[in-house]
Amino acid sequence: MIPYGKQNISQADIEAVVSVLRSDFLTQGPAVPAFEKAVSDYVNVRFAYATNSATSALHIACIALQVGPGDIVWTSPISFVASANCARYCGADVEFVDIDKKTYNMSAEKLEAKLIGAEKIGKLPKVVIPVHLAGQSCDMKKIHELARKYGFRIIEDASHAIGAEYLGEKVGSCKYSDICVFSFHPVKIITTGEGGMVTTNDAELSQKVYRLRSHGITRNPEEMTSASQGPWYYEQLELGYNYRLTDFQAALGLSQMSRLDEFVDKRHSIFRKYESLLTSDDVILPFQSPDTRSSLHLYIIRVPKKKNKPVRKEIFERLRASGIWVNLHYIPIYQQPYYRQFNYDSSLFSEAEAYYSEAISLPMYPDLSDESLDYIRKTLLTPIGHQNLF
Ligand SMILES: *Cc1c(COP(=O)(O)O)cnc(C)c1O
Repeated sequence: MIPYGKQNISQADIEAVVSVLRSDFLTQGPAVPAFEKAVSDYVNVRFAYATNSATSALHIACIALQVGPGDIVWTSPISFVASANCARYCGADVEFVDIDKKTYNMSAEKLEAKLIGAEKIGKLPKVVIPVHLAGQSCDMKKIHELARKYGFRIIEDASHAIGAEYLGEKVGSCKYSDICVFSFHPVKIITTGEGGMVTTNDAELSQKVYRLRSHGITRNPEEMTSASQGPWYYEQLELGYNYRLTDFQAALGLSQMSRLDEFVDKRHSIFRKYESLLTSDDVILPFQSPDTRSSLHLYIIRVPKKKNKPVRKEIFERLRASGIWVNLHYIPIYQQPYYRQFNYDSSLFSEAEAYYSEAISLPMYPDLSDESLDYIRKTLLTPIGHQNLF
């Protein structure tokens, strides 16, 4: 079976984890801050805090930005459900902004149009969560300008995008956002098994995230509400969580960081191979904006409906039946049964709907071999019944 995504674990990764297992600290030891420093140095940001997932990172990022009941959070409908769920955890309402026709990211133009309408009816968002789909940055400069004009805060969901660049800066630098979040789930660019990270340049937000990750507790006398009662003393200042990453996971993350650029380069070489393999007019290959260098988490093609051609579902099923574990990123979030209760009007999301009817994520990971790529191409070229796929 050829999966759509897969981790790459080296002997050095294994040794890094084992050495933590043999050490004094399995959690809250030195590996977590070392991993955080490696990421903050790499992306060039002031603060980075590791969490046990990107989902928990998104949750505490929302709390840090004081998202609560009565607030509205906007995100992309073409994302993993976690991009919207984080707002729901805080009791806020979620709305969606339709995607761009070419990048499949939240459209900055549609965001602006929606903001103009929202201002008129007094329903501006408190936070907007752009998602860097497949590892390609959204139009952050424009979104940042709109944030200034309309007074919302920005959390980048960069779960796909560690190692990516936007206008010459690494994604995660927070040049155009308040907070950025990475995921280290095994299908993503680097992995810690489960894991995530929050980056920010805002000292106050970083302290909030740091506390919320660990029960809302502080041991810093400067943050306490009363004088220390002794060396054991700590204070819980707010309702936090246990969203900590373990040290052996952080050791894996730190070791993986040393190969991040290599992983992204390999993904780019596979991207180029796909471009030469898939030359038919019947398939739309992923567009890359010149402002970005994607981390290429996903390789998403579109198969527009055409007369006398198999439809996407048939192609998808054919690939799966041939052992090519293609996937679809994503079902529009508002179509999920949980979100249907909020009665979203799907006619507002015509690009997301069209995308959903045509997209397929082909396998994309550093170890994807030329043989596998050739097998994918041959499978795509084998006719279904009387119909050629491409
Ligand atoms: C994977 C992913 C998440 C959640 O990441 P976890 O680390 O699995 O919690 C959130 N948003 C997007 C866009 C993702 O792809």
